[in-house]
Amino acid sequence: MAHEMRSPIESGCPDGFQYMHPVMRRNYGQWAYHEDPQPGVLLHVSHNGEKIWTVRAGTQRILDVFTLRKLCEIGDKYGEGYVRFTIRSNIEYMVADEAKVQPLVDALTGAGFIVGGTRNSVAMLSHTQGWLHCDIPGTDASGVVKSMMDELIDEFKGWNMPNRVHMTTSCCQINCGGQGDIAINVQHTKPPKINHDLVSNICERPSVVARCPVAAIRPALVNGKPSLEVDEKKCICCGACYPPCPPMQINDAEHSKLAIWVGGNHSNARGKPTFQKLVASGIPNNPPRWPEATAVVKKILKTYKDDAKDWERMNDWIERIGWPRFFEKTGLPFTKYHIDNWRGARASLNASTHIRF
Ligand code: SF4
Ligand code: SF4
Repeated sequence: MAHEMRSPIESGCPDGFQYMHPVMRRNYGQWAYHEDPQPGVLLHVSHNGEKIWTVRAGTQRILDVFTLRKLCEIGDKYGEGYVRFTIRSNIEYMVADEAKVQPLVDALTGAGFIVGGTRNSVAMLSHTQGWLHCDIPGTDASGVVKSMMDELIDEFKGWNMPNRVHMTTSCCQINCGGQGDIAINVQHTKPPKINHDLVSNICERPSVVARCPVAAIRPALVNGKPSLEVDEKKCICCGACYPPCPPMQINDAEHSKLAIWVGGNHSNARGKPTFQKLVASGIPNNPPRWPEATAVVKKILKTYKDDAKDWERMNDWIERIGWPRFFEKTGLPFTKYHIDNWRGARASLNASTHIRF
């Protein structure tokens, strides 16, 4: 398909077509079918018979320059000089010659990279920006990703799951991180603690007041200085006031926990859109290996693997067996924290596993 390069814009990524493998560029939108010859390898066949193989390897999202150079050297030596990164931080090498596939897989594996993440595997955990790029993290999402994927390496390399499993992380409670079959998200459990000396110097008070979804913040005069106060009975500990006003400190080593959500919109192959549901809360945010959160994720994955029918996505499986059976089978405790008692949820979220208004 003829493609005209789009004109440069001030910000945003460059036109991707210029970096595509020529076979992909020529056949854009013209694929007849694709196959999965082996874990981590895709084959695309176009209507005119041209073939291209893609080899996928997991990487950590935040790559140092030495690792990037190593990956590029592998691409130049064993591939055909074309790579791309997927949204789940995998690197993909494209080759038009089948004979190059196995040497490329061997070179990646030999250099310590893990080839996999295709078809009915546990794909690479998608990773939020974390400490390095973002201004509001409550935890180190990169560390959670690394610790969990270390334990799920065989599920990434193999095709053992009933269908593909996507997992996501978040490092704050309000933004990225809910686009998977399983989401590991930050959960703040206490209201923000305000540093009144700094509020008047740093924060635009009206924008902070406007940020609160439950109108729990009011302007106040503290020690003769303009500041803010929080109605703690109303506060839902979401942390939305922290980004516009860092003196509203909510991150806390003990009280910022992890919560696990499953199912939802991104997790069903055939059903109508649904929300993810909270299935485990108050999990200790326990670096450097997060064993408690990893144990819960492994428990959910094992139950799904044993119990779901072939090709059922996580949400399809839970919808079939029902949420009560999900808790019984996984052994996860159902507590009062699973009940969505926020009155705003009546009109919007309705994300409780049991309660319907
Ligand atoms: S999850 Fe929150 S803290 Fe992490 S990158 Fe996204 S917005 Fe930033
Ligand atoms: S944490 Fe959320 S609910 Fe609580 S005061 Fe801040 S914005 Fe409002």
